[in-house]
Amino acid sequence: MRAKLIVGNWKMNGSRAVNAALLEGIVAGLDDAPASCAVCVPAPYLQQCEEVLAGTPVAWGAQDVSIHAFGAYTGEVCAQMLAEFACRYVIIGHSERRAYHREDSALVAKKALAVLAEGMTPIVCVGETLEQREAGETVQVVGAQLDAVLEVLDAAAVEKIVVAYEPIWAIGTGRNATPEMAQEVHAQLRAQIRARNAEAAGAVTILYGGSMKPENAKELLAQPDIDGGLIGSAALKVEDFLAIIHAA
Ligand code: PEP
Repeated sequence: MRAKLIVGNWKMNGSRAVNAALLEGIVAGLDDAPASCAVCVPAPYLQQCEEVLAGTPVAWGAQDVSIHAFGAYTGEVCAQMLAEFACRYVIIGHSERRAYHREDSALVAKKALAVLAEGMTPIVCVGETLEQREAGETVQVVGAQLDAVLEVLDAAAVEKIVVAYEPIWAIGTGRNATPEMAQEVHAQLRAQIRARNAEAAGAVTILYGGSMKPENAKELLAQPDIDGGLIGSAALKVEDFLAIIHAA
């Protein structure tokens, strides 16, 4: 059975003082929760995560990475730098990056390779807009986004990724996909992985993201193909994030 994984996506939020309270609160409230958990923070706070979280059950990671190694790429952060801060996860292809930074699936595939090359786990985000859902294009859209990554991975690497299904219309809107809607897409994504590597399909963690909160987490996480959550706003409140971890 796949263990549940709850990952907080802090986005561009935090300060050293706020982070300290949040991280210490999470660690203090875990109480032997069997779910794995992690926080993906703005890059300047990775050192603080390492200082506070090393030796605790909470892992940490980044929210993006460059496709390049070192060099003349002003403003970018490469995978080797993230690995130096002991990141376990790197979110790639978040819909906010796709929308505001024009990242396409081919670029996201290169990011997956960069992350894997440094021994970290890419959390590959896929998701459809409301218009695409209403036009009946969800399977086709998320399928193409995932395929772009699967195509560049060798069979063994497939089971080293985490996939996050994040319907764009559910992100930050308070409107979550119903458990049934999410399960349908998760099952489709797993079938797509199965077609590439049957063994990996059973092992790959597929997270749901999009307004997951304490009130809806249990029902979403009870679906057979929902292996955890990628949490935005609720990850910024200790009690909400802990409630989701305990629900898992
Ligand atoms: C996200 O941006 O990854 C996310 C899931 O946000 P929220 O939980 O706020 O919808």
